[in-house]
Order: sequence, then structure tokens, then C-alpha cells
Amino acid sequence: MNCSDVEKWLSAYMDGELIPARKDAVASHLGSCEACRSRLAEWKAVWQALDALPAAAPSPAFRSRLAARIRESERPPVSERFERFLIPVSAAAVALLGFWIGYIAGGRQASSAGIPDSVSPIASTAYLDSFNSVPTASLGDIYLSLNDAIGSEETP
Ligand SMILES: [Zn+2]
Repeated sequence: MNCSDVEKWLSAYMDGELIPARKDAVASHLGSCEACRSRLAEWKAVWQALDALPAAAPSPAFRSRLAARIRESERPPVSERFERFLIPVSAAAVALLGFWIGYIAGGRQASSAGIPDSVSPIASTAYLDSFNSVPTASLGDIYLSLNDAIGSEETP
């Protein structure tokens, strides 16, 4: 350990914060280096002088400023306040979008059901055929159509 290493660890050495191996290395260097011993003595004198100073009491203005800063730090950040506002607004927007899509889709379905001009009758009633008890082009459908034909021949 050289002088610059000891200078780096001197404060921790004085405070007793070094691991034993490092503490022993610093002590060993101090035992052989007059410059570092002198520096250690200066630091100890400075710390003793600082310890002798009376403790400064904070002013009442400092206390009120500190309390204001603490209250400010306890307020949620702007992003969090924005999220609290954004979640209900976005939920309402999604609901409105759903209603709007439903309105548009419902209008198209109503208009296509009401105007069969350009659409073939089969295509316009395709949805309704799925609810019939007899599907189109089935044996039941053929039977019923033949029965209607026979019935219409017998009527006159
Ligand atoms: Zn030294």
C-alpha cells in the first residue's frame, strides 16, 4: 500500500470502518511513513475542532420550507395523477367506440335488410333461412315445394 492508497482510506481508518486486512495494511504503512502519520494527525485535529463547534439550530423558516418540501414529495407525481384521470376517460372512450361501431353495423344491417333491390332474394333471406325448421335444398324443402305445387294444381 502506498501513500495515495493510505490517503484514500484514511478517513475510514479513523472511523474504524475498514475490513481487518485493509486496516492492518494502513496501520503498517503509517508505522513506516512519517508523511502519512503527519496527515493522519492533521485530520484528527480538524475533526476534533469540528466536534468542538456548537451545533447550529435550524431557523423556523427552514422548518417550514422543509415541511413544504416533504408535503410536495408525498404528492403523487404528475404522471400518476394523469393516469388517474386517463383510465376513466379511456374506458369511456372505448365504450363510446363500441356504441358507435354497434350503431354503424346496425344501420348497415337494417339498410341491407330493407332494400333487396341489388341483392338477390336468396342472399337477402340467407340469414332467415338458417332459422327455418326446413333448410333450403333439403329433402324436407323439396317435399314442401312439391306439396305446394300439388296443392296449387288441386285448388282450381
Ligand atoms: Zn505514506
